[in-house]
Formats: sequence, C-alpha cells, structure tokens
Amino acid sequence: MKSSKLVSYTGLSPNHSGRRTHAIDRITPHAVVGQLSVERICGCFAGKDRQASCNYAIGADGRIGLCVDEANRSWCSSSRENDQRAVTIECASDLTEPYAMKPEVYAALVKLCADICRRNGKKRLVWIAELEKALMYEVKPDEILLTVHRWFARKSCPGNWLMERLGNLADEVNGKQGV
Ligand SMILES: [Zn+2]
Repeated sequence: MKSSKLVSYTGLSPNHSGRRTHAIDRITPHAVVGQLSVERICGCFAGKDRQASCNYAIGADGRIGLCVDEANRSWCSSSRENDQRAVTIECASDLTEPYAMKPEVYAALVKLCADICRRNGKKRLVWIAELEKALMYEVKPDEILLTVHRWFARKSCPGNWLMERLGNLADEVNGKQGV
C-alpha cells in the first residue's frame, strides 16, 4: 500500500519495525504536545535515540507529513499490537490539556482519515468511546476502528479536545465516503 498523496513533506524516521504483520484496520490520532510544524514533528523522530515515530504528522498549519511509510509499523501508541494494525497520526496541539488543535489540523485529519479509508477499501470509520467495548468490537472487513493512546498507556493523549470530537470525526469521514 502506497502512502497518502496528501503528503506535502517527507521526513522518514528510522524508528519502525518494517512491514506490518497485520492488515490495517485501525487509525490512532495522537496529540504531539506543541503547535509544531510538520518539519519539526518529523524531526522529533529523525534520531534513533528517541525510540518513537508515527506514520503521518499534521503540522499546526494543516500540512501533512510522512514519517513512516503507511505499510510499515510505527512506534507510536505504547502498544505493539495496536501499532501493527493502526495508521498512527501525530497532530500539532496545545501544550496542556485539553491539547486543543487548530481548525486547519482538524480539517487535515478528516481528509487524511477519509483518504486512508478509501485507499484501504474501508467504507466506515468506527468510533466507540468505551475502551472495553471498542477493543472487543469485531471490525468488519470494510471498517476501520479509531483507537486512542490513553487506552494503552497512562497518558492523556490525544487530549480531551480531540476525544470530544472523535464521534464527529467519524461522522465527517463517513459522510465523505463515495463523494
Ligand atoms: Zn500519543
């Protein structure tokens, strides 16, 4: 699977596990904690000293960057199992809770999620707010499940601002299908 054509900057990270061993059936948006440019976000993951990365980065102006090829497993969500199957997206955000994101960032996230769905043959982005229910949910072949970092680690990520909007994100992405 080729990465998204929405990418306008590529800053590849060495921090990944190579090809995924599980087909993509999740998307995990993160808050990067800082209103950073896409170059800065990818730059954070450029060194091997920091054992972290993401597939895509969205800078504060809404530009989208590629950090780890979509076909490869990034090191992003404190969960090997999740990262194996999830496209991970680091989004520029405020420094503190609720880690609010700029309208441009949110708009780019909607577009990128819709694009990931389309290219991976998914017709519906699914958001289930309760952790147990979500992880128990059997994702159908044409569906993709939203997951969040706070389910896998003692972190606030992606912050309460985005948490409150994930239902809306799914609705917007699903409304765009087939347009
Ligand atoms: Zn995170």
